[in-house]
Amino acid sequence: MTGNDHERAIDLIIRNGIDETTAADAAWLDSHLAQCSECAEYAEVFERTGQLLRSVAVTASPALVSTTQARVQARATQLREHHARVVLIAVSFCIGVLSSTASAWLWWRFGGWVAGRLSLSASLVAPGILFFWLVPAVVIAILMLAFPHPVFDMVPTLSPAREQKGEKR
Ligand SMILES: [Zn+2]
Repeated sequence: MTGNDHERAIDLIIRNGIDETTAADAAWLDSHLAQCSECAEYAEVFERTGQLLRSVAVTASPALVSTTQARVQARATQLREHHARVVLIAVSFCIGVLSSTASAWLWWRFGGWVAGRLSLSASLVAPGILFFWLVPAVVIAILMLAFPHPVFDMVPTLSPAREQKGEKR
């Protein structure tokens, strides 16, 4: 028995009841299912799922269908909003790391010169690197805490849920 046999069996099980399968195909499938417990189990599960779907389709009222659809949509919206938040936090983190690195590097390169110009003590230069490394991250954190919602409004492409809320009548 080859992998192709199993694929052919699965294909016939799925097509069974949708397309007309030839008598030869049906006979081949029966003999395969008799030998192959995996495909036989698949055929049984497929058949039971089909029955379940048909019985649900008959008994589901329009109200149940629309409630279910609304729930699925709400869950999808929730997931998208969560995803947008995660993306925004990741972007902020990257910006924070980059700007911290840049400002620390600038201070490392030019801190001595600035200290000399402002007649500050040269002993400030070394701790200054840490200070300039932390400042952008602290500023971004404060901005995110102070303006959590305007940030989401400013990024409409990351917030499809907001557009949908606007469309609801
Ligand atoms: Zn098989």
